[in-house]
Order: sequence, then structure tokens, then C-alpha cells
Amino acid sequence: MNALTLENVSYTYPGGTAPVVKNASYAFESGKLYAVVGPSGSGKSTLLSMLAGLDVPGEGDVTLGEDNLKSLDLDKYRREGVSIIFQAFCLLPLLTVRENVCLPMEMQGIPENQARVRAAEALVKVGIEESKHKRFPSALSGGEQQRVAIARSLCSGAPVLLADEPTGNLDGENTRIVMDILRRLAHEEGRCVIVVTHDPEVADTADLVLRMKDGVLTGE
Ligand code: ADP
Repeated sequence: MNALTLENVSYTYPGGTAPVVKNASYAFESGKLYAVVGPSGSGKSTLLSMLAGLDVPGEGDVTLGEDNLKSLDLDKYRREGVSIIFQAFCLLPLLTVRENVCLPMEMQGIPENQARVRAAEALVKVGIEESKHKRFPSALSGGEQQRVAIARSLCSGAPVLLADEPTGNLDGENTRIVMDILRRLAHEEGRCVIVVTHDPEVADTADLVLRMKDGVLTGE
């Protein structure tokens, strides 16, 4: 099933003279792990911003399932359609692990006790044991912090998970653990997981590898 579709998508930055994403078309499917690779400046982050609904393509269409993003409430799409994992984890340092995972659910209006149950389940799913749920992020390793960020993104229930260099700050062992989790989320939960990476070993673990070069996207 197609989760997210790009159709002839181009993007030029305001004031720019040429598009940095050129006529990109691709159908991302549910249940698969994708890697997007390419040299620095080739347009990967810009592409990810459009998939995330943070930037709107100048030309072309992005479609979630059957819904064109042009016809969707973009705030809702960003809350419920996609979730994003960043290289820098982006956890709030003054909230505990559990509070970090609960916060977006509370902002969505999910009652606190329900959010806590979901957070605990998601944290256990990514291998963060209960004794660590009340710690602050600084008391966790980098790999554990990234797993907390994944748990946080899972709780929205979004069908599409976007990850921008999610292993960029991790050592080899934690890279493997994080990629195993992302693969499981695709294969066992049917999510569409799209990882932007410069690391060929990370790309090797994906089901499909897409390449960006000078703004042109090519698939396998
Ligand atoms: P990548 O993620 O592959 O490194 P980017 O999508 O960040 O590539 O950048 C693609 C091109 O767009 C680059 O030439 C970059 O300089 C340019 N670019 C990125 N962000 C902006 C911006 N905010 N304004 C203008 N140009 C930008």
C-alpha cells in the first residue's frame, strides 16, 4: 500500500534561481524501510522537509494515502501523519524520559494516565527498561536517548516515520540497535520508515535505497 507519494515535486528556495529538488516522483510503501543517500547539498533535507509538511513544494504533489497535502490541515498532518527523528535526539533536558515521551500526547489532548501507559509501552518496545523512565535524558547514553526519541515519535501513531541522520551521533553498536528498531517498526507494525543518511552501512540495512544527486531523486 502506498503511504506517501511524490509526484513531479520541485522546490526552489525563496530568492533562489534554480530548484534544489527537481521533478521528484516516488511512491513510498507501508511496511518498508527506505534509505535516502547522496552527497551534501544534493537536496536530501529539502526533500525530507516536504515529506514532513514543513515546506510546501513549488510544483508537484505530495500525497499521504489518498490525501493530497494541499487539501490537508498541515498542522494536523505534522502531528498525526508523520513523525520525525533527528540526529540530535531533541529531547527536553529538564523533563524526565517518560515526560518527554508523554508531552506530545498531552499536547494532543490525550489524558495523562492514558499517555503514561502508552509511553511506558513504547519505551519498553525500544528497549528502555522501566527503571530509566524517571531519569533525565542526560543520565542516558546517546543510543538510549535516540531510542527515547523513537518512542516519542511512535506514540503519535503516525503511519510515516522520517529520520534525518538518526545514527549520526551514535557508535557502531548503537547504530545497529537503532536501525534494528526502525526495521522492526516497518516490518512488524507496517509503518513507512524513511531514513536520510550519509552512512553506506546504514543504507545497506534498508529494504530500498534512493539516491539524490544535484536535486534529482532516483529509486531502485
Ligand atoms: P542535503 O540535505 O543533501 O545536504 P539540502 O537539502 O540541505 O541538501 O540543500 C540542497 C541545496 O539547497 C544546497 O545547495 C543548499 O545550499 C540549498 N539550501 C538549503 N537550505 C536553504 C535555504 N534555507 N535557503 C536557500 N538555500 C538553501
